[in-house]
Amino acid sequence: MAAKDPVIITEKGEMRNWSRKIRSQGKTVGLVPTMGYLHQGHLSLIQEAHKHSQLIVVSIYVNPGQFSPSEDLSTYPSDFHGDILKLKSVLGGVDAVFCPKNLYDYSNNSKQKNKNENENCASDGGGRVVSCVEEKGSGHETWVRIERLEKGLCGKSRPVFFRGVATIVTKLFNIVEPDVAVFGKKDYQQWRIIQRMVRDLDFAIEIVGSEVIRDSDGLALSSRNVHLSPEEREKALSISRSLLSAKSAAEEGQVKCGELKDLAVKTITQAGGRIDYAEIVEQESLEAVEEIKSPVVFCIAAWFGKVRLIDNMEINI
Ligand code: AMP
Repeated sequence: MAAKDPVIITEKGEMRNWSRKIRSQGKTVGLVPTMGYLHQGHLSLIQEAHKHSQLIVVSIYVNPGQFSPSEDLSTYPSDFHGDILKLKSVLGGVDAVFCPKNLYDYSNNSKQKNKNENENCASDGGGRVVSCVEEKGSGHETWVRIERLEKGLCGKSRPVFFRGVATIVTKLFNIVEPDVAVFGKKDYQQWRIIQRMVRDLDFAIEIVGSEVIRDSDGLALSSRNVHLSPEEREKALSISRSLLSAKSAAEEGQVKCGELKDLAVKTITQAGGRIDYAEIVEQESLEAVEEIKSPVVFCIAAWFGKVRLIDNMEINI
C-alpha cells in the first residue's frame, strides 16, 4: 500500500475540528497516544487500531505531568522527523499526527503564551527541560486520580506518574474525541488504569490492549532502550528470561508466587540489575496473589545503570 502523508496538527482546537468533521461523516477515529521516538511496539498499536477504526490519529507528546523532578524528562529521546517517516511506512498509514507544544498552557494571547513557555516550561536556564505544570498561580491544578490502582507496582516508586498519565490521557480524549484508543500491554498497569478510568468516568471510548512487542532476543521494545550500553542491554535480557522461566514453571505446576518471584529477583540481580519491584498480581485488580489459581500477570521493574525498564508477562492458567 502506498505511503500516506499524515496531516500534522499542533493546535488542540484544530485537532478537535478535524476529528469532529471526520465523525460527522459517519467515520470512526482511533487514537494511539505516544511520547514519540517510535519503534515497532508503537507501530503495532497503529496496526491494531486499524482493526477497530477507520481513521487513525497518533499523538506525540512527552507529558511533563507524569515525570517527577528527579526523573528523565530532560533526557527523554525524541526524533520527530524519524517518527513521521516511520508513520508513513506503517501498513495502512496514519491520518493525523497530533503533536502539541504544551498541553498545560492555557493562555490565549500569544505574547503571554511565549512568556509562559519561557517561564514555566522548556528550560531552567541551564538548558535542562523542566516540568511546566507546577506551582504558578494560574497554572494547571486539576488531576485525575485512580485511587487504588495507581498506588501499587510503578506507583510505589513513581508517586505522581499515574495521575500525570490519567490526566494527559483525559485531555487527549477530550481533544481528539476518539471512538477507540489503543494502549500497549507493555505498560500493563497503565492500560488497566485507563480502562478503569474510562469505565468509572463514562468515557464513550473503547480501550484496546495490544500485545508486547519484543526484539528477537526477547527484550521488550522501549524508547528508553536507546540509553542502554551494549553491556547493560545484554544484562537487561535477564528480565524477559526470568519472566519466561516463571511462566513455564507456573504452567508446569509451580504456582507458589514467593518462589517464582525469588528466582526472578535472583536472576536479575546476579545479571547486574537493581530490582524496583517483582510482583505477581491478578490481571484486572492488580492485587498481589500468593498462589496462582487463575490468570495473573508477572510485572517487573529493574534498573540497569541509569535506565529503569519495565516488562511483564501474562500467565493464563
Ligand atoms: P510511550 O511512547 O512509551 O508512552 O508508549 C506509547 C504506547 O506504546 C503505550 O501504550 C505503550 O504501552 C506502547 N508501547 C511501548 N512499547 C511497547 C512495546 N514494546 N510493545 C507494545 N506496546 C508498546
